[in-house]
Amino acid sequence: MNPYKTRQEMEADEARLLAPFAQKSGESRGRQFPEPSHAYRTEFQRDRARIIHSRAFRRLEYKTQVFLNGTGDHLRTRLTHTIEVASISRTIARALRLNEDLAEAIALAHDLGHSPFGHSGEEMLAECMREHGGFEHNRQSLRVVELLEHPYPKFPGLNLTSEVREGLHKAQLSSLEAQVANLADEITYYSHDLDDAIDFDVLNFAQLEEVDVWKYAADSVRTRYPDLREPELHKLIIRDVIDRQVQDVVATSAEKIGSAEIQSRDDAGKQSALIRYSDELASANRALRKFLYQNVYYHPRVAEVNQRACEMLRRVFESYLLDPSRLGDAATRRIESEGLDRTVCDYIAGMTDRYLIEEYRKLE
Ligand code: MG
Repeated sequence: MNPYKTRQEMEADEARLLAPFAQKSGESRGRQFPEPSHAYRTEFQRDRARIIHSRAFRRLEYKTQVFLNGTGDHLRTRLTHTIEVASISRTIARALRLNEDLAEAIALAHDLGHSPFGHSGEEMLAECMREHGGFEHNRQSLRVVELLEHPYPKFPGLNLTSEVREGLHKAQLSSLEAQVANLADEITYYSHDLDDAIDFDVLNFAQLEEVDVWKYAADSVRTRYPDLREPELHKLIIRDVIDRQVQDVVATSAEKIGSAEIQSRDDAGKQSALIRYSDELASANRALRKFLYQNVYYHPRVAEVNQRACEMLRRVFESYLLDPSRLGDAATRRIESEGLDRTVCDYIAGMTDRYLIEEYRKLE
């Protein structure tokens, strides 16, 4: 017997343990630039490591999720959001006998292209790029892994497998693992945005009683723990919200996959939305999403700070267009192939909130 577990043994485990419709790492369509395979890591495990070791991944720590980065030590950042998405993706993938490593790698990479200052930052960057091809964070995540990261001397990007890269195309999710990561992203932000909004005092319990997803979990927690008070109460309710969502997705998806008679990875690729909520929860989630937009994302304490931050983003963007010599070396080398506007957009999209604020201060 080998002194260590080989990649071939791990691939054999996948063939034995995973569902017939899971994406097996040994059947990957491979990488754009061929590389020798590894002795004791599968292709998707390597992808996961490449993503975690990227510079863009480390910068997620200092990027806003919803509440401006640095305003509270317990509020989610883009990094902690990403780690929660990866955790929920793994739970769902494993329960459905899908490839956990693939779902996790997609989840870890899904927000690499996010701009500073959350969704307001994304909107402002899209506005700055209106005449030059626009900006959208999912597309940018692909640019990060295919072009902007450059740890290897022989090719640009992280040279990820085509299954992980396809998982970042939100419009055409070809594997069930990609659909899992996509839905896990939603489950994660529904629950943590409620949690953070309560911690940040922009939501109170009375408002939340109107929200079915909240009320369902709150009633159940109050029945089990009638004496529980804040802050423990809302933490437990959030836990229940996540648990209901995950259980619903696992049960509903298992049933859908069964009734659609999905037998192989190719069958799964031909059908969209096999990984899904029950109709009842999907409609409750739509109401929750609407509630979050009305009461959290555009709450003055959230929107006003983000608006000020976005104004900085616009000023910094314009300043680089006027004086490209202030761009970093790697960005300067891309001007010729990508054009100045796109190069500035890539540069700014990659910035952390605090770096952008520093750059803004230099202009004053
Ligand atoms: Mg996300």
